[in-house]
Amino acid sequence: MADVKTDLVVIGGGIMGLWAALHAARAGLEVLLVERATIGAGASGGLLGALMPHTPDRWNDKKQFQFDALVSLEGEIRRMEAETGLSAGYRRTGRLIPLAKPHLREIALRQVADADVNWRSGEGGFAWRVLDAAPDGLFSLDVAVHGAVYDGLAARVSPRGLLRLLASVLVKMPGVTIREGCASTTIDPLAGCVVLSDGTVVHAGHIVLAAGVESFPLIDSLPILAGGVARPASGTGVKGQAARLAVDLDPALPILYSDGVYVIAHDAGGVAIGSTSEVDYADPLSTDHRLDDLLVKAERLVPALAGAPILERWAGLRPRAIGRDPMAGPHPDHPRLHLLTGGFKISFGIAHRLAQAVVEGIIARPSYESDDIALPLSFRCESHLSP
Ligand SMILES: Cc1cc2nc3c(=O)[nH]c(=O)nc-3n(C[C@H](O)[C@H](O)[C@H](O)COP(=O)(O)OP(=O)(O)OC[C@H]3O[C@@H](n4cnc5c(N)ncnc54)[C@H](O)[C@@H]3O)c2cc1C
Repeated sequence: MADVKTDLVVIGGGIMGLWAALHAARAGLEVLLVERATIGAGASGGLLGALMPHTPDRWNDKKQFQFDALVSLEGEIRRMEAETGLSAGYRRTGRLIPLAKPHLREIALRQVADADVNWRSGEGGFAWRVLDAAPDGLFSLDVAVHGAVYDGLAARVSPRGLLRLLASVLVKMPGVTIREGCASTTIDPLAGCVVLSDGTVVHAGHIVLAAGVESFPLIDSLPILAGGVARPASGTGVKGQAARLAVDLDPALPILYSDGVYVIAHDAGGVAIGSTSEVDYADPLSTDHRLDDLLVKAERLVPALAGAPILERWAGLRPRAIGRDPMAGPHPDHPRLHLLTGGFKISFGIAHRLAQAVVEGIIARPSYESDDIALPLSFRCESHLSP
């Protein structure tokens, strides 16, 4: 196989890799994205697509980053939808959280003032309202006894719809090549070289590693530089299971969320139910009794789900950096290697901004001598990987 040269090679065709390729192409870089299987073969190809804000209290730079990302995502999606005629199934539905205990209502009431201050943007503010009662007939009688919170910032998207949209925009952009069915087998970050499963050697100015959970063993096996230090393990996979049910719920309905259970009506029909969080599992990609238990819990929360036929059962591995926050930016030892992973449960709402920050770092700081990526400190690789 011939050697190829490119400005940037992106490893992984999930939500992180696709946004990275898009921002890089917009910045005029020549981009090769390699995906071992097919676009969305990893955690990004799931069913749920919740874009859930953090609570508006105890504000910090991470919450601000996520807030700005959640506000800006709609414009990004609408722009690509207008360009392609495709839909990402995005809607700012808001979210309803039933309040089962009096102290939860007290906390929620205090957060109203926090939202007034912290959930403001150029587009106006987003509501965090405490309702005396949830809308009739939505929740079981015993779950919303102290009312409900309505959060007007939460939104949802079709995960597969958004990946399709991104890929269809990318393939039309000059300088972009997407190769599915092609894995990176070796990364040499010092030489800026990636060897692919078909034997091609890619010489790249920069490498973005966005291989989801599979990024972690690759990061952990990077060579320690002479005089360098051993770095801690970078991350792990947390299994999640979800399902899609055939229920006739209004797609404009807010996300219903309680005690780890999400109920999300989608524009294309069907209602997604998520998700389990499993650190112990035998098979990362199969569904089992834990999903059945989750469905029972969801029915207890929302009686309209009872007896609904299951359209799909799905499982995937969420990449979670050991530091729990997403991990983005240049590797501390290898400035041409940029990590973009670890988003855990909030990736879809922030991937475009994380990827943008990584690409801005590539464009603006070819020598990586400055330290100006606009990322919260705890998202940066050096925070995750300091010995
Ligand atoms: C059940 C469940 C529900 C979830 N719900 C939500 C939700 O509601 N909202 C939300 O924001 N997030 C949610 N998440 C989390 C979210 O799906 C992940 O955080 C996100 O998809 C991770 O994206 P990624 O691009 O980092 O990784 P991935 O999507 O896993 O992409 C990595 C890609 O890299 C490819 N790859 C791996 N190794 C190589 C290699 N050597 N060469 C080339 N390609 C390679 C893989 O095939 C894969 O396609 C959920 C996850 C699960 C499992």
